[in-house]
Amino acid sequence: MANAISLSPWSTVCLVARRTQKTARTKAEAKQSPSSVGFGRRRNEPLWRCVEGCGACCKLDKGPSFITPEEVFSDPRDIELYRSLIGPDGWCIHFDKGTRTCSIYNDRPYFCRVEPDVFESLFGINKKKFNKEACSFCRDTIKAIYGSHSKELDNFKRSTSSSGFT
Ligand code: SF4
Ligand code: SF4
Repeated sequence: MANAISLSPWSTVCLVARRTQKTARTKAEAKQSPSSVGFGRRRNEPLWRCVEGCGACCKLDKGPSFITPEEVFSDPRDIELYRSLIGPDGWCIHFDKGTRTCSIYNDRPYFCRVEPDVFESLFGINKKKFNKEACSFCRDTIKAIYGSHSKELDNFKRSTSSSGFT
């Protein structure tokens, strides 16, 4: 989700993923087929980075086409915490819409952090695929929130294209 400088949300991560996201697996699937370890990025593979002025992943209630907290979290406390963050308009109550930043960035929940360990534990995504999958998550989320022809999506593509993302 959003960070103090740029949004680096990630309650997001999670609930950012669309039901149709082919690479995201359910908790049960992840347990049946644990991800391998090892984090790295091959030459010309995308390098994920959050961009300023986005915050798309801080829209926590994205509608029925997105996976629910119950489908992502194993711990009921995570579900409760996630739902407690959702404001009346679906955006996180800690999201500053004026600056598009997280007002509790340093203390944001773990699931708001776009990190290999979080992706692996929540989605069963191999750490080696973190950059590629994180970019995919962001693209899908930004499209859903701001649109396929939004400046936010253009900014994200421009930011990641320098690292090989297309
Ligand atoms: S706590 Fe809210 S505003 Fe902050 S990163 Fe998470 S979802 Fe975004
Ligand atoms: S959708 Fe991606 S680029 Fe946008 S604020 Fe969230 S993590 Fe950052």
